[in-house]
Amino acid sequence: MNSQVDKTTLSGLAIAGAPKAFDHILHVGRPNIGNRQRFLDRVNEALDRRWLSNAGRFVTEFERAVEQKLGVRHCVAMCNGTVALEIAIRALGLHGEVIVPSFTFIATAHALQWQEITPVFCDIDPRTHNMAAELVERMITPRTTGIIGVHLWGRPCDVGELETIAQRRGLALLFDASHAFGCSCQHRMIGSFGRAEVFSFHATKCLNTCEGGAVVTNDSDLAGRCRLMKNFGFEGYDRVTHIGTNGKMDELSAAMGLTVLEDFEAIVERNRRSYDHYSALLVGLPGVSPVRYDPAQVQNFQYVVAEIDEAAAGISRNDVLTVLLCENVLGRRYFYPGCHRMEPYKSLFPHAGLLLPETERLVERVLVLPAGDAVTQDEIALICRMIRTCIEQPREVRALLERNSAAIRELRCDMRVPPPPSGEQHADR
Ligand SMILES: *Cc1c(COP(=O)(O)O)cnc(C)c1O
Repeated sequence: MNSQVDKTTLSGLAIAGAPKAFDHILHVGRPNIGNRQRFLDRVNEALDRRWLSNAGRFVTEFERAVEQKLGVRHCVAMCNGTVALEIAIRALGLHGEVIVPSFTFIATAHALQWQEITPVFCDIDPRTHNMAAELVERMITPRTTGIIGVHLWGRPCDVGELETIAQRRGLALLFDASHAFGCSCQHRMIGSFGRAEVFSFHATKCLNTCEGGAVVTNDSDLAGRCRLMKNFGFEGYDRVTHIGTNGKMDELSAAMGLTVLEDFEAIVERNRRSYDHYSALLVGLPGVSPVRYDPAQVQNFQYVVAEIDEAAAGISRNDVLTVLLCENVLGRRYFYPGCHRMEPYKSLFPHAGLLLPETERLVERVLVLPAGDAVTQDEIALICRMIRTCIEQPREVRALLERNSAAIRELRCDMRVPPPPSGEQHADR
């Protein structure tokens, strides 16, 4: 942190030519790694055993630990959340069309389209950022076979209403719970709702296994099918009874998962402290609203999300983000521009946006800030101070951005990542 510069004044900002607030980049989703020695001990143990994959001891132990923590009968660990989604979708026999939100990570849609199932994008409730259950029913056609709800930011989607609709219309209900490990809904841990729930344990998620994911369910038949499918359909040596793929989690990933699980309460506590600090400093800034979590439910506080309403703040989310990027704060505008405006969906469904007005409004407002382990309390205070400067002098900040646009292109820390070939930003991590 560069404490020499006064970020309370316009001239102290990097966009005005002052030194950056931070000399290293502050990231969203810096991995939670737990006790390093415990992890290394486990790695050595796996090497000593010479057992690195295929139902190894750590993967089995990890699955039982997840089942116990979530109070769910079956956890089938996999190599990542996307493959876990693909396998859950296939094991449920989904086909035709499946209703999903567009305001989600692209993998939710891709997991369907990859198997030639059409994702039908449903709009969100702007208050919760989750799929608006009251709009789901009108998206159902004779080809619809399922609904995938996403618990965005770990806030449960409208589970009760979605269950009612799924039951009434004979549809399978699956949840993408990638953000929601360790969160509760209706005072029950997320993991046992719907026919199955899928977690991602990607490095940026609250529970990290480097790469990893799982299908969790109380349905023994479904869990059995997922187990077969993630291991090429092998039911025993030389006996393949099902079509399958390779979705197995390896032992070193499970070793990381077990280590992070041991530290999970402390990680959530750190996340909560950083969330509370941001909230306290952002609340009351005109046009800025931090996303709130229901105090009655358990949360993992992995995401600190603020909405910036340009009309009230006097400055757009994009401009605030540019100011932060120039200070080495790599905030993210998840899930801009919405799945429906990314390929192949943009070309397949060019008019999908007509039914997604709230999604299109929200993607212009959301800003995800570096949180948890990635930032100290002082760093949070400085980030909020700079956001405050933007809100207090919006016209001056906009003028600076315009006047120094060439220099700013060089200053932005996101410019160190080469842009993808299309020249468009993707909403990955
Ligand atoms: C991270 C994420 C996924 C994909 O998980 P991977 O483990 O990265 O494959 C899917 N859906 C959502 C909502 C996610 O955030």
